[in-house]
Amino acid sequence: MDLIGVYLREAMDEGCPVCRILRSYEESQIETILYEHVNDPEVRKKFRKSLGLCTYHAWKTLEKAYSEPLLGPLGVAIIYEDVLSRYIGFLEDGRVSKEEGCFLCELVREKERSTIEGFADRIDELLPVYESSNAILCRRHYEMLLSEVARRDNDKATVLKEIQLKKLRKLRERLKSFIDKFDYLSKEEPTKEETSSLPLTIEALKGLETGITLGGRGNSKNVKRGLLKWR
Ligand SMILES: [Zn+2]
Ligand SMILES: [Zn+2]
Repeated sequence: MDLIGVYLREAMDEGCPVCRILRSYEESQIETILYEHVNDPEVRKKFRKSLGLCTYHAWKTLEKAYSEPLLGPLGVAIIYEDVLSRYIGFLEDGRVSKEEGCFLCELVREKERSTIEGFADRIDELLPVYESSNAILCRRHYEMLLSEVARRDNDKATVLKEIQLKKLRKLRERLKSFIDKFDYLSKEEPTKEETSSLPLTIEALKGLETGITLGGRGNSKNVKRGLLKWR
């Protein structure tokens, strides 16, 4: 298996492997900005254009800065002082403030696309790994992967669908026995497996919170425009 294959295989632990890859990618991008690019004019420009990222990434960035002892809020304060000045500039000039797409959302979107394609390209070796793992692709990423796989090999897409169904049914069983433990006749506590079935069910349906699962709130046109300019 090549490097991308190994990387994907390692992500097949629990929950959606693509969501998990995206979440750690998002975190590492935020870290890189905060550690290395606070004073980078190009990065400043991107922040300015979106008037400080999307709501999700703005708060995520601040959270990250506070959670890393080596960082602290200074870098974020410097970036947002610049963004605030731009906003004030709009108001002073009597113009409407213009908010373009969040570049972190776009980075994550590109990573999502390349991860799904990488997965589909290596489906022969990765499908058995996926089947035997505890991972369950979320609905969004299952559908994206399914359509990529179907474009390459229809039979493989059928196998993927069967595996996915089997995993979801198993998850439903876990969730049902979790619910049963709340019956007044039940004397047992829910097991760890049963308890984790609830967040895993939500993950299977909704994915993990990332810029793309939260960021698609009616701003996609702006996001696309922002990306074009950014490139
Ligand atoms: Zn996912
Ligand atoms: Zn964003």
